[in-house]
Amino acid sequence: MNNYDNNKNNGEVLYTTLRLRMVERQLVRRGIRDDLVLNAMRTVPRHKFIPEKYRDSSYHDGPQPIGKDQTISQPFIVASMTEHLGIDSNSRVLEIGTGCGYQTAVLSEITKSVFSIERIPTLLEKANNILFELGYRTVKIKLGDGTKGWQEEAPFDGIIVTAAASCIPDELIEQLGYDGRLIIPVVESPVTQTLMKIIKTTQGITIEKLYEVRFVPLIED
Ligand code: SAH
Repeated sequence: MNNYDNNKNNGEVLYTTLRLRMVERQLVRRGIRDDLVLNAMRTVPRHKFIPEKYRDSSYHDGPQPIGKDQTISQPFIVASMTEHLGIDSNSRVLEIGTGCGYQTAVLSEITKSVFSIERIPTLLEKANNILFELGYRTVKIKLGDGTKGWQEEAPFDGIIVTAAASCIPDELIEQLGYDGRLIIPVVESPVTQTLMKIIKTTQGITIEKLYEVRFVPLIED
């Protein structure tokens, strides 16, 4: 191994150490319990999704910029939203807001049926490339307005929205299967966004308010 490879290798070992520490300190200690989620977060190399100039902060306890005024969510928020989705290896999942593709990769560690919609072409292309390079080859991503959902692939067991919506889009509720869950940040006032969990049953829907969050706005056409 030459010096370059050696440094590169040490870098990867360091990132793995930081990632495992992130899972223990930021997720397990704060109550994330689902092993499928914890193992996914232990496995996905978060630093590979973050632009080089911010890469050293990849495992920090906060959101990071990914370009085009967009951000990758704080690790705890990614884990918590995924846990609330309640998915397993048989689930079909739709993500709205691919961004850098990190959340997409976390979902793909849990199930092979992941669909994601992004409206900024350059982000979509970068996410597609890195997901392919890392071996997440069953993910389907399309360009478009995610608030309309993905009718041809519905129904979904889980839908996760990673930008703040002004209201809960009817199309997304329609595209949920029974017992399906929609996890979505909703703007409630100019200074308040609340993460909501909507469960669809044969009787109708239930809406649970989870906690306050801060997301970039969903661009609705
Ligand atoms: N899940 C992402 C977070 C991305 S931030 C990650 O892990 O990195 C929110 C993303 O939603 C941005 O990439 C933004 O371009 C996208 N977005 C905003 N409005 C959208 C819409 N109507 N349809 C699809 N994507 C949208």
